[in-house]
Amino acid sequence: MTAEKIFTGIGVTHGVAIGAAFLVEVARPQVPKYKIEDANIEAEQKRFSDAVENVRGELQELKTRAAGLPETAAEEVTLLLEAHLAMISGSRLIRGAAQKIADDKINAEWALENAMGSLAAQFRALKDNYIAARLDDVEAVGNRLLRSLLNIPYVSLDSVPQGGIVLAREISPAETALLDPRRFAGICTVHGGAAGHTAVMARSLGLPAVLSIEAAMLDTTAHGQTAVVDGIEGKLVINPAPETLRRYEKIRAELAQDSESLDELRAEPAVTSDGTQITLRANLELPRDVETISAAGGQGIGLFRTEFLFMNRATLPTEEEQFDAMSTVVAAMKGAPVTFRTLDIGGDKLAPSLGAHLENSVNPALGLRAIRLSLKEPLLLKTQFRAMIRAGAFGPVRILLPMVTTSQEVERARALLIESHRELRAEKAHVEEAPPPLGAMIEIPAAALSADSLAAVSDFFALGTNDLVQYTVAIDRGDDQVASLYNPLNPAVLRLIEFAVEAGRRAGISVSICGEMGADTKYTALLMGLGLREFSVGPASLPRLKRRIRELSLQQAEEHARQVMNQYDPERVTDIVDRFKP
Ligand code: PEP
Ligand code: MG
Repeated sequence: MTAEKIFTGIGVTHGVAIGAAFLVEVARPQVPKYKIEDANIEAEQKRFSDAVENVRGELQELKTRAAGLPETAAEEVTLLLEAHLAMISGSRLIRGAAQKIADDKINAEWALENAMGSLAAQFRALKDNYIAARLDDVEAVGNRLLRSLLNIPYVSLDSVPQGGIVLAREISPAETALLDPRRFAGICTVHGGAAGHTAVMARSLGLPAVLSIEAAMLDTTAHGQTAVVDGIEGKLVINPAPETLRRYEKIRAELAQDSESLDELRAEPAVTSDGTQITLRANLELPRDVETISAAGGQGIGLFRTEFLFMNRATLPTEEEQFDAMSTVVAAMKGAPVTFRTLDIGGDKLAPSLGAHLENSVNPALGLRAIRLSLKEPLLLKTQFRAMIRAGAFGPVRILLPMVTTSQEVERARALLIESHRELRAEKAHVEEAPPPLGAMIEIPAAALSADSLAAVSDFFALGTNDLVQYTVAIDRGDDQVASLYNPLNPAVLRLIEFAVEAGRRAGISVSICGEMGADTKYTALLMGLGLREFSVGPASLPRLKRRIRELSLQQAEEHARQVMNQYDPERVTDIVDRFKP
């Protein structure tokens, strides 16, 4: 019997999953290192060239399979595989490794690892983001070769069996968009913070997930071992002892029962015990999630992230393609409003179709992204505006601008919105008489601090706390190394929220929260006490949030917020929030 092993990380979804561990793309296998005799050099080089041929075969087969993917994805994946095939056919990596076997008289795996290391060092020294990105390709091809040399079968995310627990170094937004993660029972990754992309995706699907786990989980876990993902406590248990397993089975059963009782609340209003109505909307990650929203009791969509229309493709989506996706969602919401956010590529979300604009950014989180990119490329923005305005013929639509810093940005965007609307009217397109309301995301400290002037030019606000926290406390939201310092309860963040909510209230515009903070019921009383009356969260978080709201009274929430806002020590704040009971 192998002993029980417990790994800790950040739990991001309120749930527990039990299943067979499935290691995805285990980055770099353990490499054996030994010296070889002169007489064996040729045989070792042959072993290496056999591995190269083997990998070439794998890549060819993948290329054939990629042809069966939806058109744009096929194009994208094929391009990547072709780059890898080119690398396997006599690149510096391959030549370097073969040379090192002879020069250093070492085994093929060791030689290859050394060749990967020197290439990486040379690439990094060039300090060019485009070349730095090619490092991923060297790593991918090198690891494939290492696996072939070591006879470790190659596995990828699309071969995870139903109900498996995915253990991966990282799951990128683009991978998420390509796959149906509903097949998995749970997710554990080495990279990713509480508000990074993987967390958002896991939460929106209600998938138990633990992120930011030490990398050792990948090296010490074998395929098929029993794994427990505890998204509540942030734990991954491999080979649970019988009593651990029984305990988790019990928790899982209780959670299932709890979700049945939550189902009963579906038709009930989100109203506090002292009669304050709260609006609950859903964040839409991918158009395919639309059915789950009304099922979960959402009153429309508070955030539709359009960047997913731009991922996994080499070309930009046309107005028609965007209109198709958008109008389908608006029609499916049957009169409940849909808030479309204009493109927010950059930071942790990249799209090859926009590569040329983004790859040279020294620091993508502070670079040409979101509204900045849209205003620099007005055609891109107008194409989105036109699709959104046209989708508005199918039901109420609002438009949201991401990463706004100044009121000039809103004014310039509004001018383009009015122009797009006028053009569509002139073309006799089927559109409403007035352009849709235009709102600003409050997710940069500068925007929060100038919320009063922004409110004068915006029709509504949406608080993007995922970024607001990141930019206020200078902690990358997806970086596992500093994940424990990512704290939405930092008094500086809370003051910015309070100020923005107050500015919106004074101007008489609606203010919602659509960051992950709004989905965590630990913060519901505080956020309501700070004046928020609209929440937009992943569909899977809606029922629990509604139950929380119904347990609270506004009076109690306001008192709680007052207590919190009197504190300036983050630890004291955490303590007050943890101890709060309705
Ligand atoms: C946010 O920043 O809080 C937000 C909702 O937007 P995104 O997570 O897409 O950056
Ligand atoms: Mg954001």
